[in-house]
Amino acid sequence: MILARGRIRTLGRTGLNPQSHLAVAGGKVVAVGGREVMALRGPRTRVVDLAGSAVLPGFNDAHAHVVYYGLTRFAADLSGARGIDDILDRLKAHAKRLKPGEWLLGMGYRTDELTERRQPNSSELDRATGDRPAFIDERGGHARVANSAALAAASITAETANPHGGRIGRNVNRAPNGLLLEAAMRLVADVQPKPAVERRIEGVLMAQELLVSRGVTSVGAAVNRGFADDLRGFERLACEGRLKVRVNEFLSWELLEASSGLGLRAGFGGAMVRAGPIKVFVDGGAERVAMRSGGGVWRTTREELRNLVATASAAGLQVAAHAIGDAAIEAMCDAVEASGGTDLRHRVEHCTICPPDLQVRLARLGMVAVMQPMAARFSRVASTIFFPVRDRADLAPHRRLMKAGVPVAFSSDLPVSPDPNPWPGIRVAVDDPVNGISLLAALRAYTAAGAYASFEEHVKGTLEPGMLADLQVYRGDPLEDEDVRWEELRPRAVLLGGARVYGSL
Ligand SMILES: [Zn+2]
Repeated sequence: MILARGRIRTLGRTGLNPQSHLAVAGGKVVAVGGREVMALRGPRTRVVDLAGSAVLPGFNDAHAHVVYYGLTRFAADLSGARGIDDILDRLKAHAKRLKPGEWLLGMGYRTDELTERRQPNSSELDRATGDRPAFIDERGGHARVANSAALAAASITAETANPHGGRIGRNVNRAPNGLLLEAAMRLVADVQPKPAVERRIEGVLMAQELLVSRGVTSVGAAVNRGFADDLRGFERLACEGRLKVRVNEFLSWELLEASSGLGLRAGFGGAMVRAGPIKVFVDGGAERVAMRSGGGVWRTTREELRNLVATASAAGLQVAAHAIGDAAIEAMCDAVEASGGTDLRHRVEHCTICPPDLQVRLARLGMVAVMQPMAARFSRVASTIFFPVRDRADLAPHRRLMKAGVPVAFSSDLPVSPDPNPWPGIRVAVDDPVNGISLLAALRAYTAAGAYASFEEHVKGTLEPGMLADLQVYRGDPLEDEDVRWEELRPRAVLLGGARVYGSL
């Protein structure tokens, strides 16, 4: 196939300079340039006249909760809920679709969007759910509220101690009030009946429809409690030829021993599904981030982190550490330094509050920052509430990290960002008055840097000859259009390995 007369930006050596023609064969880009590419045309070559349409490499969303997002499609949708009554109404309506005794889940609300400005409690949930076990998850993924039946199923009582790295919300008499923070969320997740692999697959299918419609062709699938069934689901879809995005599947820290015992090493797998980094949580979310000035939640202690990174590194496995506060990022730098290796591209997920000394260390230790550009806007607005930083330039420091030599990969953290469309984040990163970056740098953070983070920069991330033909075609050229509405921008077609997976050419 030859894409002709387009505005093709490879994001490789030619950067944003548009080329007009691109040839694809065997799933890869074989040539890119001007009219001379037409010389490759054979009797069976399909020539697509782009008539000035823009082409970019497919996006790589380096951190998105694919399965969790998919499963939320089967839960009560609480996004945009304005108050606790609103949440209860939605739960009641959703319960009508469930079998007797089936757990009721709700997802997507945010406390700061509720008129009450507080979490609901278990007795409030009971009013809507009755005896059916139920819990609801806040959108950030770090807080959950369980009803009385779910608390009982998990045997959480006044006597239950807080688990390490988590907290059980309590009334004055110490009785649990339903709130479960950070690692305490696991207490009910562990007793909740596991969704069947078929349901996970259905969820993945819905998630991938959303992702490809936004131009995403590769995704770092952040873990939840699926483990074997998640991987099984991705593998089955890949074998059946139904997987439309390339998946770099994170492995929960609980799988470290199993993974190294199997002989898995960083980058193990194929072009469609591969074993990604060992994922570990260092600090919490929102107001529970670990700062050098004190406070926050340590879901993994410094010592545990050092042991984990040492064990993983010795086995040749990459680690992806959730670290938002400067103390958490520092702990990860210490752990990587102690492990002695700099070639495993250990990742800091979020990397939100990162002062200059840590920027330098990340670069020196060969680490990658996996960030969410939309969070830059949020953290600047909310910085006084959530992040006690003295220097605002240390917040979401995309430009400074890049200048220091740290590869920065962008991601949506779906469903924390409910829409994985990369464009609004790209605009935020470019327009950020404090740490703004160039458009080319932002686009590379959403393409080549994600490929680098999964050791695949030699196969994808640009449209240079030899690279996989993972690409997206737009209607017209959005980069030349002053009036484009970034939230609404969608590709008109997406190709994965040269095959159409979305829209039409
Ligand atoms: Zn996440």
